[in-house]
Amino acid sequence: MPIVIRCKACERTHMPEEYEEDRFCRSCGALLVLERRATSTNGGWRKLFPYEPYAPQVEFMDDVERIVGGGGVLVAEACNGFGKTASALSALLPTGRPIVYATRTHEQVRQVLDEVSTINDKSGERFNAVNLASRQHLCLNAECRGLPNREAQELCRMLRESDSCKWGSEATSSPRGLPPVMTHKDLISTGRRMGVCPYYLARAISKHCTVVVVPYAYVFDGQVRASVDLELSGRVLVLDEGHNLDKVGQETMSDTLSEPTLDSAAEELKAVRTPTKPLKSLARHIREHTSEVPTLRPAETLQRDLELAIGADLPSVIERYAEAVEKVRALKLQLGDTPVSHLNGVVNFLALVSGSSKEKYVALYRRDQRGSNGLDYRCMDPALAVGPVVEEAGGALIMSGTLSPLDLFADVLGLRDAEKRAYRPIQNSAKIRTVVDPRVTTTYRERNGEMILSIGRSIASQLEGVDNGALIFFPQRGFMSSCLDAWGSNGVIEARRGRLNIGGKPIFIEGADARSNRETVARYKRFAVTPGGAVLCCVFRGRNSEGSNFPGRQARGIFLVGVPYANYGDPLVRAQIGYYDRLDEGLGRRWYTMDAFRAANQAMGRGIRGRDDWCHYWLLDRRYAENIDLVSEWALGSGPEIIQADGEISRMF
Ligand code: SF4
Repeated sequence: MPIVIRCKACERTHMPEEYEEDRFCRSCGALLVLERRATSTNGGWRKLFPYEPYAPQVEFMDDVERIVGGGGVLVAEACNGFGKTASALSALLPTGRPIVYATRTHEQVRQVLDEVSTINDKSGERFNAVNLASRQHLCLNAECRGLPNREAQELCRMLRESDSCKWGSEATSSPRGLPPVMTHKDLISTGRRMGVCPYYLARAISKHCTVVVVPYAYVFDGQVRASVDLELSGRVLVLDEGHNLDKVGQETMSDTLSEPTLDSAAEELKAVRTPTKPLKSLARHIREHTSEVPTLRPAETLQRDLELAIGADLPSVIERYAEAVEKVRALKLQLGDTPVSHLNGVVNFLALVSGSSKEKYVALYRRDQRGSNGLDYRCMDPALAVGPVVEEAGGALIMSGTLSPLDLFADVLGLRDAEKRAYRPIQNSAKIRTVVDPRVTTTYRERNGEMILSIGRSIASQLEGVDNGALIFFPQRGFMSSCLDAWGSNGVIEARRGRLNIGGKPIFIEGADARSNRETVARYKRFAVTPGGAVLCCVFRGRNSEGSNFPGRQARGIFLVGVPYANYGDPLVRAQIGYYDRLDEGLGRRWYTMDAFRAANQAMGRGIRGRDDWCHYWLLDRRYAENIDLVSEWALGSGPEIIQADGEISRMF
């Protein structure tokens, strides 16, 4: 049984390390008294869960407590609005083990801290939680705040060493009298009030905190994790919104070297009087191997190719330039510039190429949108990043609304021993309706004028039965424009009072950039909630398919036009399929299909955002009928329906 120390005066719970360090309560200063509590009682969450639980939530919390509390890995799919955050915290807090809770957005950070506060308020406990954010969010020094992580870290170190930061006196331990839940704002205001750095204050608090909320990068980037002193061993890891975990893992283990970076790095070398020839040769090599069409090369030969181009072996170049990076930074500071070093980026790239398992990588020479030549060194295996992290933690929960199919998702992450569960939605299933139309498809072979017209007519007729707002998702922006043009010329889209309408609703089209999209979506939402409603046309994997919310009347209907398969013409997609096939015959094709259906499930998730929310779905492609088991369970309501050849609708099974 782990020891839990609770202050008898104010009830705040302390970790054993806090007790070792200081035997007085950090909130009220009273003497602490030891007591023992069981790790996890059967249904320990019952004392903490702040709401009346629904049956699926009970199942979820029992599983989390048993599997994750017992040190295992649970991959859990549960619909938006399920209450995953409150349920996970309620099930894990009674285990007495600290929790590292990784999130992807500020909104999620706020939600985790809010739920800990609600649990405390309703249960009378004082679990402490802190947002361990980056310097970019917590630094009070304007010079340092806007810099990328590594540069901010370097400048901060130099400023503190030279006593040039007025908040540089770091809090070495958590000060007394702080509220149990420390948000980003609390950290900043406390830092200002006490004249200490909020970033180091967060780090000091996090050492003995029950819930540490961190961005994903802190968990997967070993260097960042070491730099913020984030321990995973002995802690439970929660990876919220884990549906992109494979991509996050791959991104963390990949890097890019561009010609402009090499040019800037060469300038830096000149300034510290160091030969630039190897960098110039590297830039020439990239230029000579790049064309309009991206070119894939096996990673196994990349190191040799680069060494031949440079005329030296990579480890010696890395060593020489790592020393030059220090000189570049010192010179920039001396000149009053921020110590951003492009050379450091080159060193990191070469070190990754030199130190990685080549069979898990590919090299891609390609030109970016600005016309710059570059070399991508892409990791093909997400397990490389995810496996060690999950193994180090003392139990892990990976959860999201869209992980189906769970077995395959766990396989590509290398989590074969993980337990996988999909939980029934807590929404009223009878209100969620899903209709598959197998009469249409957007496969390239059948994508013709007649098919596009059939899809448009089907949408227009169904839209008449949708109250308020509806979203239509298309596989690509170009195809969306072709459909809208075709529907405009054959009467599916009509002009009414200066506005284009489909199915009697005004049409809005997702903006191509963030700003125009924000404005369009705001206008769409104003129309959508009125009785006439509105339609927003978007693309899968785009700005409105992930991270956007369309609760209640903002989306009562969602139409999926086609299945969002990744572009097979993209060499990286083909390389990924090939990589998985080498691991396990047929895995590549299964991954390709899973990836498409996960994007479709993500788009469907935009329409259900809360417990009382509901939405109707139309899946316009016969491939949905063939793979209905890949559609998330929560999206199937009380069972999918299918449109027959004669237009009649019947239950699929
Ligand atoms: S000590 Fe804190 S406030 Fe000062 S530069 Fe470093 S992060 Fe910023």
